[in-house]
Amino acid sequence: MSYDSNNIFAKILRGEIPSFKLYEDDWTFAFMDIMPRADGHLLVIPKEPARNMLDASPAQLANCMATVQKLSHAVMEAFGADGVTLQQFNEEAGGQEVYHLHFHVLPRHDDVALRPPGKMADMDVLKRNADKIIAALKD
Ligand code: AMP
Repeated sequence: MSYDSNNIFAKILRGEIPSFKLYEDDWTFAFMDIMPRADGHLLVIPKEPARNMLDASPAQLANCMATVQKLSHAVMEAFGADGVTLQQFNEEAGGQEVYHLHFHVLPRHDDVALRPPGKMADMDVLKRNADKIIAALKD
């Protein structure tokens, strides 16, 4: 299985399609998931190509996890969350739909289930939630 540089997250990294950017450093990029399963659902990706966890380098995984942790603290604060769920899918059988390595960060509240997948967000709500996370990253 090889990396296809026309996947949608590669296009986001190249600025060819828009995203609600939350954070970036030299190695990673974080942005809102467009079909959020919880308010504040975001994605962390490496800037360098990797199809998924199986072909990623240890450095890519380590850099992604550092950003996942940073953004997890931010969503805990931004949404008054009680916890955070991470999801990461590999290949079709593993549930992967976009073939650029990504980690889902999902803020969670006690006794609140995740919403079903596949429902497009209201863009105004997504922007408001992104702004809350960006503000929490500054604290
Ligand atoms: P999966 O590969 O199973 O983790 O699914 C891909 C994830 O990417 C889903 O949660 C989608 O909602 C999300 N997604 C797909 N296209 C975009 C996009 N253009 N911007 C942000 N998130 C996206």
